[in-house]
Amino acid sequence: MAQWEPTRAAGLARAAAFAPNMGRAYAARRNYDSGAQPDTVSALSPWVRRRLIAERELLEMARAAHGPDAAKFVSEVLWRGYFKGWLEQRPEIWERTVAGLDAARSAVAQDAALAQRLAAAIEGRTGIDCVDAWIAQLRAEGWLHNHARMWFASIWIFTLRLPWELGADLFLRALVDGDAASNTLSWRWVAGLHTRGKHYLARAENIRRYTDGRFDPQGLDEEAEPLPYDGDAPLTPPAPGNAMPAGRYALVIHADDTGYDALELPPPAQVIGVTAHGLADASAAARSFAEGAVADAAARAGAAFGCPVALVAAWPEPGDLPLVAPWPTVGPLRDSLPDGYPLAQLRNPYDAALWPLATAGFFKVKSRAAGALAPLGIALPEL
Ligand SMILES: Cc1cc2nc3c(=O)[nH]c(=O)nc-3n(C[C@H](O)[C@H](O)[C@H](O)COP(=O)(O)OP(=O)(O)OC[C@H]3O[C@@H](n4cnc5c(N)ncnc54)[C@H](O)[C@@H]3O)c2cc1C
Repeated sequence: MAQWEPTRAAGLARAAAFAPNMGRAYAARRNYDSGAQPDTVSALSPWVRRRLIAERELLEMARAAHGPDAAKFVSEVLWRGYFKGWLEQRPEIWERTVAGLDAARSAVAQDAALAQRLAAAIEGRTGIDCVDAWIAQLRAEGWLHNHARMWFASIWIFTLRLPWELGADLFLRALVDGDAASNTLSWRWVAGLHTRGKHYLARAENIRRYTDGRFDPQGLDEEAEPLPYDGDAPLTPPAPGNAMPAGRYALVIHADDTGYDALELPPPAQVIGVTAHGLADASAAARSFAEGAVADAAARAGAAFGCPVALVAAWPEPGDLPLVAPWPTVGPLRDSLPDGYPLAQLRNPYDAALWPLATAGFFKVKSRAAGALAPLGIALPEL
């Protein structure tokens, strides 16, 4: 796997190189995890996660190159907005996840057998060949193929019988694309908690087939029941973004969304890049990508607007200038905002269009995305 370079230029270069594969090849081969060098999928998620590349750019690139054959790729890109919008409207699920993680850590502290199973899993000593290899890959590269993530989460929950919150936390801290919404809701989906009672069971035959025989896992529980449903969370339509303050202001760029350019702002008096990541114990690879992404975006904004740039480690002390930022989404970085912090949070137009559709299952987003995104000038193939 190439090094993750946290710049927009590197992300665009990777996207351009993968564009010829965003059509039929992607639809046919995306489920195959051929190993450390992904060629069946784009591995663009770290750049998209930090919005060094916007979803709209990927959608436009895929459609321009492949027309109707881009449908599968386009639909996968929409999953990201679906998960973001869904969690944004049900923040209680994130609060429950954080509380569930605390409870799981307490359980581990009191249960020696559970602690041993957990240690074996995170140290790659389960004896299940694929799981031990994926842990090594996660630690070495900070990235796993989507299918490997699904299999891993399923084996973690249903074969190793480990609390899903511990697995989700492991991913969130280790993945270079770690994202509270995509990660938490994918783990919940595998467990049978997102679509009530519908879980994802990893099967040895499926793993053998889609890894081209690299793995031959033994002892998987292929009959397990979904986890007991933990109850609906209230649905709160996303609050509208704040109004843009009049006059001089400071643009705050943070790791949750570095895509300041989508907001079409007037020139700020200053750009402040906040390099905080929100997760104190994230892996070095995840932290350095997040910090690098902020530095890259802040430098580009400073050059574009012709104003001074400062990089700071935490949310800046409020000063004379009103602070304006892209909307920080539900998750650790948002949680780190001090209560009542005076930050005008602006909603990216793509999110504003897509999030209100994310109230139920993905189908509602997929079937209505074309209509919702058309006013932004984004045309989708038939999905
Ligand atoms: C248990 C589990 C945990 C996950 N955790 C994360 C996470 O922390 N961060 C994260 O970005 N994704 C997460 N995903 C979703 C998905 O695995 C990754 O987005 C995808 O593997 C990224 O690889 P790619 O860039 O090659 O994707 P491609 O297949 O090339 O797709 C292009 C882009 O579309 C988006 N995308 C594709 N598939 C999905 C999906 N299923 N969900 C959301 N967005 C998608 C990504 O932004 C991706 O870069 C998780 C999935 C599972 C099953």
